[in-house]
Amino acid sequence: MKIICIGRNYSEHAKELNNEVPDEPILFIKPKNALLLPDKPLYYPEFTDDLHYECEVVIRISKNGKYIQEKFAKKYYNEVTVGIDFTARDLQQKQKSKGLPWEIAKAFDSSAAVGRFIPITPGINIQELDFELKLNDQIVQKGNTKDMLFNVDKIIEYSSRFFTLNIGDLIFTGTPAGVGPVSVYDRLDGFMQGEKLLEVEVR
Ligand code: ZN
Repeated sequence: MKIICIGRNYSEHAKELNNEVPDEPILFIKPKNALLLPDKPLYYPEFTDDLHYECEVVIRISKNGKYIQEKFAKKYYNEVTVGIDFTARDLQQKQKSKGLPWEIAKAFDSSAAVGRFIPITPGINIQELDFELKLNDQIVQKGNTKDMLFNVDKIIEYSSRFFTLNIGDLIFTGTPAGVGPVSVYDRLDGFMQGEKLLEVEVR
């Protein structure tokens, strides 16, 4: 199982980190050990002093596929939730400034928190989902999937050119503006369409 993540998929977030808005999706991968198990706290890693939350809509792959066309992409995922792409921002900036890969800043153990998955029923429009993140009961991020630069089906098409998608793989679809640091003893709650699906405590 792997986790495919999309960077800079909301233009307001790209701007807040002084990044250009991309003309193709930016992909990176987190390995299986990056998954934060449900109800487990996130232990603040010792290698960073600037751990950030990035709240994202996450979809689960339900069918194996490679070279999936956009028009058939919907057959390849059937569940959705919110997650947090935890990022060691200080390490990421250091790696970026040297043109080096991001893995140590983004793909470390427990860096991918996911909420409770809900089935994508015919009533759910994947490109019109409200989601938000609260940090200690204050709203810090608010997004809607209609603002994605590359929609879910496009992401499936693009990423399956390079990587076979397997059942159970997860796709983190990018974060809206409002990312920021967390501290030990913080609590993060993730919501989709007003329903709480995710809770993470930092320890
Ligand atoms: Zn992210």
